[in-house]
This record gives sequence, structure tokens and C-alpha cells, in this order.
Amino acid sequence: MLATNSRYWTSLGIASQAMAGRSLYVMSRRVCASIFSCRHSHQHRLSNIFKPLNVMPKGAVKKSDEAMSISQKLLVDLGITSLRSNGMYAMLPLGQRVLNKLTALIDEEMARVDSQRFSLPHLTKAELWRITGRWESTGEELFRTEDRRAREYVLSPTHEEAVANLLSDVQQLSFRELPLRLYQISSKFRDEINPRFGLLRCREFLMKDLYTFDKSEDEAVCTYNDISGAYGRLFQRIGVPFIKVAGDCGSIGGDFSHEYHYQAAIGEDTLLLCQTCGYATNAELLPDSNNVLPCPKCKSQVDKISGIEVGHTFLLGTRYSKPLQACYRNENGKPEVTWMGCYGVGVSRVMAAVVEVLSHPDSIVWPWMLAPFKVCIIGPKKGSRESSVSSWVEHMAHMVSKEDGYVDDIVIDDRDSLTIGRRVLEATRTGYPFILIVGKRAAEHVPIFELIDTVTHESHHLSHQMLLQYFRETVKNKQKL
Ligand SMILES: [Zn+2]
Repeated sequence: MLATNSRYWTSLGIASQAMAGRSLYVMSRRVCASIFSCRHSHQHRLSNIFKPLNVMPKGAVKKSDEAMSISQKLLVDLGITSLRSNGMYAMLPLGQRVLNKLTALIDEEMARVDSQRFSLPHLTKAELWRITGRWESTGEELFRTEDRRAREYVLSPTHEEAVANLLSDVQQLSFRELPLRLYQISSKFRDEINPRFGLLRCREFLMKDLYTFDKSEDEAVCTYNDISGAYGRLFQRIGVPFIKVAGDCGSIGGDFSHEYHYQAAIGEDTLLLCQTCGYATNAELLPDSNNVLPCPKCKSQVDKISGIEVGHTFLLGTRYSKPLQACYRNENGKPEVTWMGCYGVGVSRVMAAVVEVLSHPDSIVWPWMLAPFKVCIIGPKKGSRESSVSSWVEHMAHMVSKEDGYVDDIVIDDRDSLTIGRRVLEATRTGYPFILIVGKRAAEHVPIFELIDTVTHESHHLSHQMLLQYFRETVKNKQKL
């Protein structure tokens, strides 16, 4: 066995002929020391990842009265988020990885429509909200605070006032600088009376908010269409089926809006969809949506479904730019009011909503693009009969992490005091799309590895080369856009 294994290592160019005949132990140490040495430390290892499993102590009382959802339970139980106080969550390292992937997708799509990332303070002067009337109209959901000099502030849920104020301070903004598209990805606040379903309705959340400025209504509509295209691509790349409907302008106001939803039983919006003509709207837009109505366009029966709102686009017109004097200088040097749009994506809400839509009651299923790691590699238990093959774990992690689409996306479950079965169970529940097991068949003449697809529950027994080929094909299929 040792000899054949050594030959195989040699064929891969990672061990010299001179090593044939030495013990696998020595060889693996050599390989570790010489070939992978500096790269070793860059592999992610579960023993180093803060991922506290939510084990309820005996006799413990449930901490919160929040209504539970599947996503909330799974994200907390598997150490991805942690409830810190009513409606407020810590994002633990695995959750942070998911958010980083999502924000990277957003950054890419925003760049494609010439949007620039910036950030505004979380606190906005109350005075600005008074000018637009929202200090009074927003009510108890608005987090308000004041400083030591009794100046009042809003802990911002959105930044139309703040960004319009920024533009009004720029005296010389020229018509040549428009359209201007500025977005941020930051925490937003809402003093929910009844936080529920974890990240789906909480009091502090991560949101992407884009604000656009144009010279005229026509150009603002062009911008709206451009950004809508970016939203379509973004939600397609996230990879969970979404529904776009005509939206309710609500407290934001403006001329018209569209909403992006995921269909889910716990969704709090009612959507009306017509299969015949494609009419799609939030039921809030219709005067009497409690009765099932015929489609206003073609009179066929509409479907009524529940949706979780994950994105919202608004053509604002001059609702904010006029009172706050967000102006530009026209061709004649005269100030004119800009036309605004605003475009939100509930980033932390998307993270919970995809889990809500795809997962099983006991285990998370992530969309390929957002999984915290794409592959979890599990080696033999320490002291078990097959422990001699454990050096393959590092080698496979190294090889797979060189493949396009897997860079920095491999985690080794190196907690080798646990059985393979126990670790496979946890990896399945956490929702890594692939689990790669280095077990006793790795000691065969041509080493064989087991690959579990946690989405389809299929299991494949593959050689080293076939495995890499399989990973390449997967990326081609899943990252088409
Ligand atoms: Zn219709």
C-alpha cells in the first residue's frame, strides 16, 4: 500500500522517487514541510473558526419571545448569527463570510451601472427630517436620540435627507457631473414594535442604499431602467427565484416603485400575480385586496402569494431634492433641482430569506454564490484504522483551492477527535454545498474520495483527477452570469 501510494504521489509531482519505500508518515511530513509549507497557514480550519453551536442548557428558558422562523432557528443554532438583544443580531464569522460574498456581488453589479460606493454617518440631524416632514410622519419606528447639547438626531433607517443635504452643500455641481449614482452598504435602524423572524424583521440591519441624481425626469427614468437591470442581474446571480412586482411607495414617497420578493409562507407581503398577462403587484396597491380580484389588465384570475421583500426601487422625483435644495448648475450656470431615485437591497435580510426559502427544517441550503465555504473537507478520525490517509486532506484542500471559483472557499474540518459521521452531519446542517471525505478508500492503489452534494444528497466516489474535473464542471454550471 505504501509503495503504490508513493507512486501516486510521484505521478502528481509532489514526492520524489527517492521517497518511495519510506513510511507514509515521513513522506507526509516532508510534503507538508517542503511543498505546502507557506501555504498551509492559509487554509481555513474549523478548529479555528468561532462557530458556537446553540446547545440549550438543561432547564434553560427561551431568551426571547420573538416569533421564530426556520432561517432564524438554523442561523442561530449553527453558530452563524447570535441574538444579542431583542431584534439585534451579531454576525459571527461564517455569517460575515456570507455577507461579504453578497456585498461583493452587489459591488460588482453597482460598478457595472457606474455607481460609486460612499458612506454617510449613521446619525442624521433631526432638522433635515423636519424639513421633509418625516420627523413627524414616521412615528415610533424612527430611532431618535440626542447629544449632550440636546441636539436631536435620527439613527437612520434610510438616507434620502442626508444625501440630498450633501448635494445641496455642493454649490458647483455641474450638469456635466450628472447622472450621479452614490450607494452605501451600512447598518440601518428601525425601532420595530415587534421584531420577529430573526434577520427578516429586526431593529438593526444591513442595507445597500443607492441614491441617483439626474437633470430631468426623462433621464431619471433612464437611470431607473438601468438600475432595474442591475437588480435583475443581481438577483439572478444570487440564484434564488425572485418575483418583481409594482410596489407601494409608502413612507418613502415618490412617483413609482418596484419590489423584489422571495416567495415564502412567512412572507409579510401579499403579491398578486397574473399567469396570463404577467401583471404583478403588491396587494397594498389595490383598494380592496382581501377579495380575490380578477386581473385589472386581462380579467383572468390572479394568484395570491406571500413574499419576503428583499429589494425596492423608487423613482422619487423631487420629493427630497426640492425641499432640501439638492441642485446642480445647468448649461447657463443657473441652479436647478435634481431628479432623484433611491434603490434598496436588504442585505442581511437577503441572507436570512435565502435560507428561509431553500432550507430544510434541520439543515441549511445556501445558494451556491453565498455559501460560507463551497467545500468542507473531512479527514479520518485520529487513531482510527484509516488515519494513515490524513495527509491527503491538506493536499486536496491545496489542489481544490487553486481551482477557479474555489479560491479561499475551502474549509478543513480538522477536529479529528470527532468521527467522520459526526462531522459530516454538522457540515450537512451548515449547508456547505460539497463535503469531501478522505476515508479508507484514499489508501487504495488509485485513491478514491467521497464527494457528497448536500443539495441533491448524491454521493460520488471519485479519483483525484475526476474530482477536480467535477468541481470545474460545477462552477461552469453554477456561475454562468
Ligand atoms: Zn392578467
